[in-house]
Amino acid sequence: MKSFPMFLRMNGRRVVICGGGEEAARKCRLVLKTEAEIIVVGPAEDPELESLIASGRVLHEAAADAHTFDGAALTFIATGCPAYDAALACLARGAGAVVNVVDRPEMCDAFTPSIVDRDPVVVAIGTEGAAPVLGRRIKTDIETMLPPRLGPFVGLVGRLRGAVAQRVAPARRRAFWEWVFDGAPFQAHLDGRERDAARLIKDAVNAGTSPEAKGHIALVGAGPGARDLLTLRAVQRLQQADIIFYDRLVDPEVLELARRDADRVYVGKEVGACAWPQDHIDRLIVAEAAKGRRVVRLKSGDPSVFGRAAEELAAAEAAGIDVEIVPGITAASAAAARLKTPLTERGEIDTFALTTGTSRPGDADPCRARLAHPGTAVAFYMAVDKAEVVRRDMMAAGAPGACPVDIVACVSSPEERHVSCTLDTLPDKIHAEGVRSPAILFVRYPKSMAAASRPAALLAAE
Ligand code: SAH
Repeated sequence: MKSFPMFLRMNGRRVVICGGGEEAARKCRLVLKTEAEIIVVGPAEDPELESLIASGRVLHEAAADAHTFDGAALTFIATGCPAYDAALACLARGAGAVVNVVDRPEMCDAFTPSIVDRDPVVVAIGTEGAAPVLGRRIKTDIETMLPPRLGPFVGLVGRLRGAVAQRVAPARRRAFWEWVFDGAPFQAHLDGRERDAARLIKDAVNAGTSPEAKGHIALVGAGPGARDLLTLRAVQRLQQADIIFYDRLVDPEVLELARRDADRVYVGKEVGACAWPQDHIDRLIVAEAAKGRRVVRLKSGDPSVFGRAAEELAAAEAAGIDVEIVPGITAASAAAARLKTPLTERGEIDTFALTTGTSRPGDADPCRARLAHPGTAVAFYMAVDKAEVVRRDMMAAGAPGACPVDIVACVSSPEERHVSCTLDTLPDKIHAEGVRSPAILFVRYPKSMAAASRPAALLAAE
C-alpha cells in the first residue's frame, strides 16, 4: 500500500481550492459535502463557482498570497497552468497543508478516491492511480449494493446508540443490532416508513431486547441466468436470506450473491424425475420460515410465469407467514432483447401472449386457436419437445405456415443459441439443429401477413 486511507475530520477546518474552472468547481462540490470552510483562489470562470461565491457559501480570494494557506488542512490545485500549479503546491506545502494537484499525481500528497456517499456511511475506493476506470466500476457495484436510503437510517441508529447501550444488556446487544439491520426496522425504513422504523427500535430499546425474529418467505425471480439481469431487490433478498431454495435453471453465479453463511438447498426437478414434489417444497419453505428464518425461494425468470408461485403463496398464507414476490426478467423478455425483436410492434404486433407447450399430465393443452390471430406474437415456454403439436394447432387455426419463428435456447448463458425458421418447418428445424431445452419459441403472426395471405376477392369486398 503506497497510500494509506484515512477519514479526515473536516468540521472547522479550512480547505483551499486554487483555480476557477470546472475542475475547481468539481472539487468544490465534493468538499461542500463536509463542514469545512472553503476558500476559492483565482478568477472564478465557472458559473457554479461564481454562484457559490455570490451566495457566500464559499469564500473567495482573487490571488494567492503568503497567508492564503495558513491553517489549511487540505489544498486542491487546478489552475490549468503547470508552472503556477507547482508554485502554489510549494506554497501550500510550506504552510503545512496536504496537497492534491488535479491530474498531476507526481505532485500530490493525497489522492481523491471514488466515493460512495451514504452519509454517515462513506465508502472510499482507491487504486493508487493504477486503474481509475476500475475504481469507478467498483463504485458503481457498491452503489447498487447499498440502498439509497441507508444514510438516514444509520443516522437514526447513531442517535439511538446511547439509549441502546444504557437499556440493552451487553449479552443481548449483538442480536439487537442484527435485528435492527436485518429485520423489521431497516425493512420499514426501506419501504419509506421512517416513523415506524424509529418506533420499532425505540419500543425494543424500552423493552431491553429485540423482538423474536419473524419468519418471511420471498419468491424471488432470478432472471434468465446472467447475474446482471437480477433486480436490485432480488440481490437484497439474497443477501438477507438465512436459507435459499433454488431450482435447476438458476445459475450458480446468482447464488454467489447470497450471504456466505446462508444455507442453500437444491430442489431442482430433472426432466422425468420428481425428487422434490411441489407439496414437499411448500412444506419445507413454510417450516423454515416458521422457525423465524428468512427464506428465499429462488426461481428462474419471473416467479409469476410458469413458476408454480400460486402453490407456494397459498402454503405461506395458510400458515400465516409473510410472503412477497420479487419479480424477475422472464425468459421471453430476455430472448426478445437478445434478438433485438421487440415483443410488440406498432402496426404489426399489438398482442403478446405467454403460453406453455407442456401441460400437467391429465390437463388439456391450452387453446391455441386463440393465439393464431393476425397481430399476435406468442412466446411458447417448455415447448421444444412439443414443436409438432404447436405447428399443427397454430396452422389448423389459420396461422400461415410462413409465420416467422425464432427459437432462443439458454438465453444469457454461454450456451445461448438462436435458430430461425417458419412455422411449417419448425419441428424439422428443431430436430435438424438439435435444439434442447430450455428454450423459448417465438411465433409471430404480423398483421401485414394476414393482409398478404387474404384472397383478392375478400380484400375487394372489405
Ligand atoms: N419462470 C420462468 C419460466 C419457468 S418454466 C421464466 O419466467 O422465465 C421453464 C421454461 O422457461 C423453459 O422450458 C424455457 O421455455 C424457459 N426458460 C427458462 N430459462 C430460459 C433460458 N435461459 N433460455 C430460454 N428459455 C428459458
